[in-house]
Amino acid sequence: MFFIDSHCHLDVTHIGAPFVPQDIENLTELIVQRAFEANVKYMLNIGTKLSDIERLRDISDRYENIFRTVGIHPLEAKYHTDNYKDDEILRIINENCVKKVVGIGEIGLDYHYDEEHKTEQQKLFHLQMELAQQHNLPVSIHSRDAFDDTVEILTTYPKVKGVMHCFSGSREFAKQVLDFGYYVSISGIVTYKKATELQDVVKYVPLDRLLIETDSPFLAPVPHRGKMNEPAFVTLVAEKIAELRETTVDAIATATSENFFNLFSLAQNFVK
Ligand SMILES: [Zn+2]
Repeated sequence: MFFIDSHCHLDVTHIGAPFVPQDIENLTELIVQRAFEANVKYMLNIGTKLSDIERLRDISDRYENIFRTVGIHPLEAKYHTDNYKDDEILRIINENCVKKVVGIGEIGLDYHYDEEHKTEQQKLFHLQMELAQQHNLPVSIHSRDAFDDTVEILTTYPKVKGVMHCFSGSREFAKQVLDFGYYVSISGIVTYKKATELQDVVKYVPLDRLLIETDSPFLAPVPHRGKMNEPAFVTLVAEKIAELRETTVDAIATATSENFFNLFSLAQNFVK
């Protein structure tokens, strides 16, 4: 039995989050070490912009159990459409769909923090869904306050499979996502007292469609809320899910790990 963090950001000191200590040398190494000690055996390190590709590649080169994705986050859409031509974006991502890149992401729509740039976000979302389809790669989707538009775009690419990362929607949205063949990934938000709607979703999603994640360094679960999150804490997410579903942590760890390798199937090639 082991855990897999299906969505984390390991280039922590580059993220610019106030709760990430900048004065600790080798912070990524420490975090990865603590994850392995906590029985988090594999991690999927998620790309958010073209400029992080190299850093993520270096991390994956250093540790055999760290996979990665390549992609442009919706909150980076405006910057990338301003600074790159479409074919340049396509070329860079295409060139980097190699080695331990097991998916495209994170991609999607965020109208919560950036309603002004819906057009740019939708354009890049489409562009990257097309790429995922061409490469037959699964996608990690970020969707915030944009459920209808997200579903509409996903429907355009019925062959692409993926995960709704850091799920925060209603049971109805979960149903749509599941009907569509996608996985639902649960983050530390599930441990927050007020997250009753998400706790309800956790009980509803079939076990063979659940993934767990930290989205670290963000969204630290209770009792670390407000501090830096890290992949080791994905165990707390699994514990909460087990409690809600009245099952064992072992059962959640085993199922979510199996689901991870089903979705991000290229990762199987790197397992010894
Ligand atoms: Zn993320």
